[in-house]
Amino acid sequence: VPVLTTRDSSAVVRERAPSLAILPVGSIEQHGGHLPLATDLLTVEWVATRVGQALNAFLLPGLPFGTAAEHLGFPGTVSLRPETLAACVTDAVRSLGASGIRDVVVLSGHGGNLILRPAIRQLNLDGGAPRTLLFNVASWTADDPDWRDIEADDRHAGEWETSIVLAIAPDLVRGAATPDFVPSPTVGPMQDQLPMTRLTPDGVWGRPSLASAEKGLLYLERSVAYLIERIPATFRALDGHATPKAAPSGG
Ligand SMILES: [Zn+2]
Repeated sequence: VPVLTTRDSSAVVRERAPSLAILPVGSIEQHGGHLPLATDLLTVEWVATRVGQALNAFLLPGLPFGTAAEHLGFPGTVSLRPETLAACVTDAVRSLGASGIRDVVVLSGHGGNLILRPAIRQLNLDGGAPRTLLFNVASWTADDPDWRDIEADDRHAGEWETSIVLAIAPDLVRGAATPDFVPSPTVGPMQDQLPMTRLTPDGVWGRPSLASAEKGLLYLERSVAYLIERIPATFRALDGHATPKAAPSGG
């Protein structure tokens, strides 16, 4: 089944009347010397396409930029200000409401898009917009103790991100893998508070030497399966809960 996208006409969208839309959000940021800047965008679009097909959703093109200020200092990184990303997502979700979309999933490919959580909470508090939920391509790992252990030491451009790009776009993996590097476990919990230039010499946090296309495909398939199950289950669980009406506003 071809996924309903912005390549379809408005007549086709009206005819198929999707109730769910998926907005992928990526990031353009350094991923060591061996992975493309668009790694997070490629990953989230790959996952979103398959989830959109399975759920008969209206799939939006991925928003390429996220908030990646932690990676500034490594060439090629482009970061939105958090308020800019919040405004983009808020405006996109509200527009979808005007098209008759009832539910929206914002699917992030980048753990550093930290503003999405409060931005989506505010949308749901303000009301007058589709019900909106935030998921991440890595959401499934929270339910898997083995992956939790892997991710503690493998957070950026390491084993799992290198595996993903080997699986979906092997031509974009350049040369020899950037050397493995794992910062001390003491600074790990501070990741969100420090620039990556202070944490890792080459932009890698993990072990690209352990990567394989097979591991990447396994990761991606588990992500897709989790989202296909969890997205409808979560919206179903919300059915019957009151949705706030649009709050009166001056603008
Ligand atoms: Zn990444």
